[in-house]
Amino acid sequence: MGRKFNGCFKHTDCFANKNGCCMALSDTRFHGKDCPFFKTHEQAKEGRRNARTRLVITGQEDLIEKYGGHSADEYQ
Ligand code: SF4
Repeated sequence: MGRKFNGCFKHTDCFANKNGCCMALSDTRFHGKDCPFFKTHEQAKEGRRNARTRLVITGQEDLIEKYGGHSADEYQ
């Protein structure tokens, strides 16, 4: 049985939006409010860069590879 994706037609420019479906959230109902998780592709990319930098600075580089990231050596 495949995963069911929820529609998101308000933010088609969101990093998690693929063809009008949210690939990140299982519930896209915000009761009349805007999605608090909206990020552009560039904002999401910057967030990943910052998280990676934090892991390197705090000596937790092993977590980068453990969770599917790339080795910190590639970003130096
Ligand atoms: S994270 Fe929010 S804005 Fe982005 S696609 Fe999902 S529901 Fe839409």
